Amino acid sequence: MPAVARRRIAHLDMDAFYASVEWLRYPQLKGLPMVIGGGRRQEDDLIGRLNVERPERHWTADDLADIPVDFFPLLRDYVGRGVITTASYAARPFGVGSAMGLMKAARRCPQAILLPVDFDQYRKYSRAFKQVIREIAPVMEDRGIDEVYIDFTGVPGGQREGGRVLARLIQKSIFDATGLSCSIGVAPNKLLAKMASEFNKPNGISIVHETDIERLIWPLPCRKINGIGPKTGARLLSHGITTIGELAARERHWLITNFGNSHGTWLHDAAHGRDARPVVTESEPVSVSRETTFDRDLHAVRDRAELGVIFTELAEAVAGDLQRKGYVGKTIGIKLRFDDFKIVTRDTTVGEHTSDARRIRQVAGQCLKRVDLSRRLRLLGVRVGSLARSADLQPSSEAPETADTGWLF
Ligand SMILES: [Mg+2]
Repeated sequence: MPAVARRRIAHLDMDAFYASVEWLRYPQLKGLPMVIGGGRRQEDDLIGRLNVERPERHWTADDLADIPVDFFPLLRDYVGRGVITTASYAARPFGVGSAMGLMKAARRCPQAILLPVDFDQYRKYSRAFKQVIREIAPVMEDRGIDEVYIDFTGVPGGQREGGRVLARLIQKSIFDATGLSCSIGVAPNKLLAKMASEFNKPNGISIVHETDIERLIWPLPCRKINGIGPKTGARLLSHGITTIGELAARERHWLITNFGNSHGTWLHDAAHGRDARPVVTESEPVSVSRETTFDRDLHAVRDRAELGVIFTELAEAVAGDLQRKGYVGKTIGIKLRFDDFKIVTRDTTVGEHTSDARRIRQVAGQCLKRVDLSRRLRLLGVRVGSLARSADLQPSSEAPETADTGWLF
């Protein structure tokens, strides 16, 4: 074991996610050309029609796996303006894919089975597979319904065989819990991991090390870099740059001259497989706030004592939320709603981060002095923004003066 663990980041992408979720209830459709799109699911439609047209048996919602394949609606019968949300692997060779109009797709692959989208079901399985991952490797960044980044660096098995041991465990655990397969790329960073997860689809694992970049990454087209879209791709092509290797061969200076400072620098780094972005476990909150609506409208002067108590309670609640979540903030503000429903906010940014209830109460009180309080109040709120993680602000003996920077990046 090296003294300092090497950074190992995984990108996990579920295989044909929507189609695979549909196959869990309609296994008889597995491997067939199939598109999902158009209207919302009409849950009992198929069952209802079966009971009319195939009355030899009483059909219920438990019989989905028994529905004869020839009973499913076909793309050729579709009329309307819907588009494809996803197409199964077997449908793709016919030239149909996401975002294509269903009627256009019907001309290319009329025999494809057409299923309506069922996002409730997809979200349910999305939550399930992410829960499996979090229990094994808690540093997980949610990247949408069917993909995540995972920091393998400090997780048991995350370094063995470049991360393959942990990737295999996660793959198997997800399959055992959901019946779904996924593909995983493990690499020194997110950029490479994202590319690697595509190398071995479906149900694959790909391991990329720094030393593999020339062999595995450079032959790929530039568009395989997440962040190089059609526009940049076309511009690179106009300079004769097709592959990532050709991009890497350009001087950083040349790229900056042609693509600007930040974009040029990024292109150069990306082509060399450099990417320092951390895996972000949850979206960072912008602010923490508490507010309360009064049982009766209160007046700043006549109900001063009561308002004061509420104000203190709000400050304490916000402070408690901040401390529990591990944040401190510098911008302290208030929100008021008057009896005419007009809303007023005021805030102040102080010199140091805080999660102290008394400090929050004090600064919020100063904000309150900047408001015309002649009208009665319906609602009072206290908010703390410009947050930082308190753990990132612990004074460091090496560089105390930079201790409060860099928490976002
Ligand atoms: Mg996917």
